Amino acid sequence: METGTGTMAIRQNVARVRERMEAACRRSGRRPEEVLLVAVTKTVPPERIREAYEAGLRHFGENRVQEAQTKRAALTDLPLTWHLIGHLQTNKAKAARDIFRWVHSVDSLRIADKLDQAVERIASPSTERGAGNPEATGPIRLPVLIEVNLGEEATKSGIEEAAALELASHIGRLATLELRGLMLVPPYFDDPEKSRSYFSRLRELAKVINSASLPGVRMDELSMGMSHDFEVAVEEGATLIRVGTAIFGLRA
Ligand SMILES: *Cc1c(COP(=O)(O)O)cnc(C)c1O
Repeated sequence: METGTGTMAIRQNVARVRERMEAACRRSGRRPEEVLLVAVTKTVPPERIREAYEAGLRHFGENRVQEAQTKRAALTDLPLTWHLIGHLQTNKAKAARDIFRWVHSVDSLRIADKLDQAVERIASPSTERGAGNPEATGPIRLPVLIEVNLGEEATKSGIEEAAALELASHIGRLATLELRGLMLVPPYFDDPEKSRSYFSRLRELAKVINSASLPGVRMDELSMGMSHDFEVAVEEGATLIRVGTAIFGLRA
């Protein structure tokens, strides 16, 4: 199955991804509205992001703060929602809060604290981040997810499973973050069926954390599934899928 790269191709790719997602929902008795497609745009230039917007996409994921900053500046005329899906360095926390409406990749107490401290008060209702919430006068609570490294891969970011509950409890006490769920990048397998047990483990971990009834913690989001395995992820309960290649073609 070839993934094209022209304007028409982006439109067709988005349609195909949506069809596959909807089929996975039907197979697992879920509604398509339960799953949000986040288009991953690392290495993708702003013109192509604009095409993806024209094809109906509104949510975009970037791994790096600086790369997102440049692209967002080129696309301020569009109402895009940016998601941070890559490892965050503490010295980028302020910049990250300016750009991203969701952070999927919180994986330490330190980064959670830095994100919490990096709040700018909303000066006036006309500022961009206040735009969706004109009544806002205090800090906006930023929805975040904990990235878990279930494969225990040394090269991957994410907190180990055994430490996730403690981090959840910590984030629940932070005034400006809103813990909404978990995120996973499983080890890579050519056969997406091999990812299934990782996806179901993430779902179970979210249940365990939910059942601890921590104040300020509501685990209703699972960010899991990429171009080659998002259907399996949807069958296992994904609510946010992060898809790059299947929309934009292979990265250089
Ligand atoms: C690049 C990336 C994706 C998208 O990967 P594709 O295989 O291109 O769909 C999803 N999640 C994260 C964290 C990524 O870095």
